[in-house]
Amino acid sequence: MAIKSKADLTYIREINKAEILKVIRENEQASRSKIFKITGLGWATVTKFVGELIKEGLVMEVGKEGNFRGRKTVLLEVNPKAGYFIGVDLGINNITVAVTDFEGRIITRLKNRTRREIGPREIFRKTVKYIKDTIDSSGIDVSRIKGIGVAIPGIIDFRNGVVVEAPNLKGWKNVPIREWFEKKFQFPVFIDRNARAMLIAERWFGAARGVDNLIYINLGMGVSAAFIFNGQIFRGESGSVGEFGHTFIAESDVVCACGRKGCVETFVSGPAIVRQAVESLNDAADSEILKLAGNKEDITAETVFLAARKGDAKALEVFRNTGKHLGVAIGNMVNLLNPDMVIVGGGVARAGGLLLDNAKESLDKRAMEVPRKAVKILTTQLSEDGGVIGAAGLVFHELYEPPTIEKQ
Ligand SMILES: [Zn+2]
Repeated sequence: MAIKSKADLTYIREINKAEILKVIRENEQASRSKIFKITGLGWATVTKFVGELIKEGLVMEVGKEGNFRGRKTVLLEVNPKAGYFIGVDLGINNITVAVTDFEGRIITRLKNRTRREIGPREIFRKTVKYIKDTIDSSGIDVSRIKGIGVAIPGIIDFRNGVVVEAPNLKGWKNVPIREWFEKKFQFPVFIDRNARAMLIAERWFGAARGVDNLIYINLGMGVSAAFIFNGQIFRGESGSVGEFGHTFIAESDVVCACGRKGCVETFVSGPAIVRQAVESLNDAADSEILKLAGNKEDITAETVFLAARKGDAKALEVFRNTGKHLGVAIGNMVNLLNPDMVIVGGGVARAGGLLLDNAKESLDKRAMEVPRKAVKILTTQLSEDGGVIGAAGLVFHELYEPPTIEKQ
């Protein structure tokens, strides 16, 4: 990065400050000398910017720790009350809105049922009301709110805040949703794909703190992926990055939602689990799956999971098959991208070990030794709130993390 003008110098200065905030946050607590060591910035720069962060209320001095000479060192911590974020998880069946503190802890959360048939205008109108209700019930003064983050399942033009396409919602094509929100609220608004919001939640608040090469896989109604490379969120050229569900994995006669055959999504998504379970019942009417669901039409991925936990052979076979294909698909990504960590989240990930043990077994066969050794594979530890925490985290990421190269 070349320094060209005075404006660039201001930018560098802000990167340094954001870098210091990041070190304090990722270490939970840090002394000035620790920041000095980690960042490699000059001592004067560290003390100056720490002073500014304290003055701005973003960071506070908390207790002291004794060093080896018995002298006391002041520790710094991020101030959880430095500001508040609004996260919106605009899902297929629910709209969840939360107010979080500066460290991503939920203060208030409201979950409302929705129907995708009502279309973008009506969903937007309801969401605005839910946001106002959530702020009211949080008791947080509006002036303390820093911004709104919205997570949506679809292809998102992040820079322009437009939902390019959301096949699982109805009528969402080129919807300038950020502009709509900005007319209703005075805060900055950021829109991103739901898988990317969940990725941010993991990095900000979950198992992936400090992980610089991370893949998040969202396994639900659909299947998508999101990436952090070299510590930066990767959004691709036109926002469609992460269509992992529509990569080819094996020959199959099942037609995918995208119109093609052989997609990952037709093997490992929630609907794929249900389809396989229904098919398997043709020759086994006494299955636990059917007992739990009542009838074939009411089988869900969850009933298949519960049946598998009870030891039902058909259900176990479905998860074996699902895990096997997931392992192959993850293996392709691991070979290609050499990540430190892959986190599997979304509704299907609630199957936990039942899914992942099978996936790891086939991953071991598929992945090459060097990238396989380097990567940790886990299911998310964040509850279903991952989307809403990540949406709030998106605001934090955009306003307070070191800027990405793209912003130059
Ligand atoms: Zn497809």
